[in-house]
Amino acid sequence: MILIRNVRLVDAMGERGPLDVLIGEGRILSLEGGEAKQVVDGTGCFLAPGFLDLHAHLREPGEEVKEDLFSGLLAAVRGGYTDLVSMPNTSPPVDTPEAVRALREKAKALGLARLHPAAALTEKQEGKTLTPAGLLQEAGAVLLTDDGRTNEDAGVLAAGLLMAAVLGLPVAVHAEDAGLRRGGVMNDGALADLLGLPGNPPEAEAARIARDLEVLRYALRRSPATPRLHVQHLSTKRGLELVREAKRAGLPVTAEATPHHLTLTEEALRTFDPLFKVAPPLRTREDQEALLEGLLDGTLDAIATDHAPHTLAEKEKDLLRAPFGIPSLEVAFPLLYTELHLKRGFPLQRLVELFTDGPRRVLGLSPIHLEEGAEASLVLLSPKERPVDPARFASKARFSPWTGWRLGGWPVLTLVEGRIVHEALE
Ligand SMILES: [Zn+2]
Repeated sequence: MILIRNVRLVDAMGERGPLDVLIGEGRILSLEGGEAKQVVDGTGCFLAPGFLDLHAHLREPGEEVKEDLFSGLLAAVRGGYTDLVSMPNTSPPVDTPEAVRALREKAKALGLARLHPAAALTEKQEGKTLTPAGLLQEAGAVLLTDDGRTNEDAGVLAAGLLMAAVLGLPVAVHAEDAGLRRGGVMNDGALADLLGLPGNPPEAEAARIARDLEVLRYALRRSPATPRLHVQHLSTKRGLELVREAKRAGLPVTAEATPHHLTLTEEALRTFDPLFKVAPPLRTREDQEALLEGLLDGTLDAIATDHAPHTLAEKEKDLLRAPFGIPSLEVAFPLLYTELHLKRGFPLQRLVELFTDGPRRVLGLSPIHLEEGAEASLVLLSPKERPVDPARFASKARFSPWTGWRLGGWPVLTLVEGRIVHEALE
């Protein structure tokens, strides 16, 4: 039994407290205190449902030098995540029921965050032949995606949506038109021209989202079930507008945004530092403001990390040759708590929703409310500020574009089904 005393509660329904939360048998037993062996002082802190990340690259199997299930899932619980969807663009890609099952079993034995693997939509993620979705789902896959690559063949995506619809699985897309993107390493525009760097235009994202929404319309018209399309790491104002229009028209589409697109802009590339190299690229202030609007008005359903670890040696290459990606599992919540909530007044309740019920809805899971009887997969967040220090990361990627940023809202206790999986209480 654990008692968290004098703590404020926050979930998608709102804020309450302070209350004394008694936890035992994997559940919240009482919000009115009680006897417990372990007593935690929650004064000044708030307690939220455990976070769910829809988009993390844990690199296993095949690239364990960058990250593995242990380091990645430890990074997750340190970031307050109790549940995480791993991307299938590993080496080899996760495209068989055996591979999904192996990931699930290994992750379960680690006893950290709960792993919900995404499986490839097509064999080897080559965009040609669909994977056996029913068997993948039976093995534990919760999402189908060729993330890391774009789905060039609209017919294959349509067939994938039709197949997944019958199973109730969402299909997630990395929406970038490969032809328009070409060799772009940063946002296309005046700054890229000034720096002499190849640009990846916002139209590459918007054009692909527009196409994918038409593919969804087709699948919706042809399917007896409801196909669900999820747009990953949305980064542009125009892409956001397309998703907003589609939602208003009643299309079954959802979308996520990342911590880096919400807190950094293309201006960071002036340093030529490959730490800021990511796909889709960091965009303009105007795009970022549009994403913020989208978080508020429900166009965006979730904040997802796109945690993308690499070795420091790879990331220290010059900007043209370094790989794309930013690791962020351990800083995502404190970053947005500080930059959006504390500095800009973004509602805390909605921010927590974007880490909990929002991503849960994308997967078709029920919302979690902190009440007696609720599952005790929880995170305790402290307002105390400290700077980002990648040397302390559990992730193997011990570098960060946010190094030195002073943030509050750090997870100091993470529980999965009542079990402590991360503790950093003072
Ligand atoms: Zn992607």
